[in-house]
This record gives sequence, C-alpha cells and structure tokens, in this order.
Amino acid sequence: MSRFLSKEAERLAPYTPGEQPQDAQYVKLNTNESPFPPSPRVLKALSRAELLKLNLYSDPTCAALNSAIARRYELQPENVITGNGSDELLAFAFRAFCGQGKGVAYADITYGFYKSQAAFFGLDATVIPLREDFTLNVDDYMDFPGTIFIANPNAPTGMAVPRADIQRLLEADPDRVVIVDEAYVDFGAESCVPMIYRYDNLLVMQTMSKSRSLAGGRVGFALGSAELIAALNRVKYSFNPYNVNRLSIIAGAAAVEDEPYFQACTGAIQNNRAWTVRELEALGFTVLPSQANFIFAKSDRIPGGELYRKLKENGILVRWFDADRVRDYVRVTIGSLEQMAALVDEAARLLEEV
Ligand SMILES: *Cc1c(COP(=O)(O)O)cnc(C)c1O
Repeated sequence: MSRFLSKEAERLAPYTPGEQPQDAQYVKLNTNESPFPPSPRVLKALSRAELLKLNLYSDPTCAALNSAIARRYELQPENVITGNGSDELLAFAFRAFCGQGKGVAYADITYGFYKSQAAFFGLDATVIPLREDFTLNVDDYMDFPGTIFIANPNAPTGMAVPRADIQRLLEADPDRVVIVDEAYVDFGAESCVPMIYRYDNLLVMQTMSKSRSLAGGRVGFALGSAELIAALNRVKYSFNPYNVNRLSIIAGAAAVEDEPYFQACTGAIQNNRAWTVRELEALGFTVLPSQANFIFAKSDRIPGGELYRKLKENGILVRWFDADRVRDYVRVTIGSLEQMAALVDEAARLLEEV
C-alpha cells in the first residue's frame, strides 16, 4: 500500500466493475445493459439548444426529472430523489441510515457494491447467507436491529422475494429502514413501490441503467416517504448538490415518459430470456428462476471459470464470480435474440469439445 494512503483508505474494499471493452469486438452479455438504444424521445430531447446550455450548472433539485418520475409512479415529487446512477443513491442511503449504533445487513450473495459501500462508511456489516437453494428468507432478517439492504430481484441469481415478505419485514419493526434495490424489477418481479405511502420505513431504489437503456447516462432514483427522501437530500447536499448533469436530467425525463417503448423493450427481454432458458436447459444447463434481465446458469460438464474464459476467447463476454457457492455459475445478460443465439451456439459447441 502507498505511504500516502490514509488509514481509512487502506480499509476500503473497492468494487470490481465488469469488463467494459471500448470497441465492439464482443457480444457483450456481462454487465446487464440493455441491448436496445435509448428511447427515440431521448434522442429528440437532447437537442443542440440543450447542449449550448452546458455552460450553466444543472438544476440541483432535478425538478423536471423528479416530477416526471413522480407522475409515472403515482407519487409526489417529495417522494423522489434522483442520483448519478443508483450507486450514488445507495451511498447516500448508507450514509443517511447506517452508522454508529446502526449496522447494516445484506445477503452473502448479492450486489457486490453493498460490501464496498459498507467498508467506505466504516460500518458494522452483518452478512446473512441465502438459503441452500439461493432463496432469501426474510425470517432470517426479522430480528436484525439495523438497516437492511435487499436487492429484489437479487443479483447475480435473478431470484425475487414476494412483496408480501418485504411487507412482513417492514411491519416487524417500523423503526428499521428497509432498502429494496429494484434495479431489475421491470423484468417481471413485484415492485414494492405501491407500499410507499403505507410504510414510511420503506425505501425503493430503481435505475434507468437496465430497463430504460440509459446505463451510460447514469440516472438512478429512490422512492420513499418524504422523511426518508429528505434524509437522502441532507446527504446529497453535503456531498454533491449538482449530482445529476444537465443532459441526464433531460434524457431521464424523456425515457420515463416513453411508456410504450419501455414496455416493448422489457417485454422483448422477457421473451428472449424464456427462449434462452429453454435452449440452455436443452443443453443440460441448470438455470436459476430469473425475473431479471440476466440468468445465472451452470453446467456439470464445464466449470464456470472455464466456460467464461472459453466464451470470451470466442467473442462472447459473460460474467463469472470467483466466489464461494457461485463459482460453478456464469451470469449471462439477456440481450437481443441474435446475441442469445450466438451464446447458445457457442455454448453448444464448447460442450461438444469437453
Ligand atoms: C446495476 C445495479 C445497480 C446500479 O445501477 P446504476 O447504474 O448505478 O444505476 C444497483 N443495484 C443493483 C442490484 C444493480 O445490479
């Protein structure tokens, strides 16, 4: 470690992003992006006139974006905060709702960024293992006294917890904040958004990175009681008041207003997912039941790491986690049908070789 590092920086646990090759040499199925371009309404909204305003700061309140999101989800703007990706809002939530005397709990197999954030804020983190079959049982969290983060559907398994289970968790302790990270909810799972007016301890995180084709725009949003949103704003205004840039405010608002395009894209992904699962199962793969825009699959004929490497050598990028309980699996983003056919063909060919 560098002698320049602070003690605090030595204790960090930086997140490892999926590979992001900047040329188009791969069928890229490794970071759960949308294979579709942003809505045509986004392209139209990002006009030359808007570009010419880049000399001016963005609106720190993100009013246009927040009210578009509030309309779409039938909430008030005071129930919405937007961020530079939901990763930023997760950080605000860790700072706002965890700290001395308020620990955090999350699953052993879940979004890797929770661990990085917990280390960043020096938090006391309790890791609660998923059950043997990778289900998350909320009973395992009932007595936990701190703040709870649940990715629903979970990553990298794709498996979802029913809304009624989250409801039980919210009711078990009204003084405990539960953050439900719904990055993948638009691909078929039950959202907790309808419970926001009923439970002021519920914070729902969503993102435009997956279902709204804006990963590069970095637009995330959190929905919750006015009290929780005010707490997140307190952190935001202590850290980065202009957190969403001008172009992303415009792009995000246009994206959330194009409901037909959103429905078409998320519908296509669900169809392509069903097709891919059928094809991989026919090749003998075990595929966990996914409600996300990716699947988690393994074959007993080829180890996960080897499958990942061989696919990559043949131009197909998937994600492999060299971690306990999941190293047999690869996580495959659901892309276009052409991309999925390329994956299935290559997997079939590799299995013939072994
Ligand atoms: C992708 C993802 C996010 C973060 O998305 P942003 O691009 O930062 O909005 C958050 N949580 C989970 C579980 C994710 O997979």
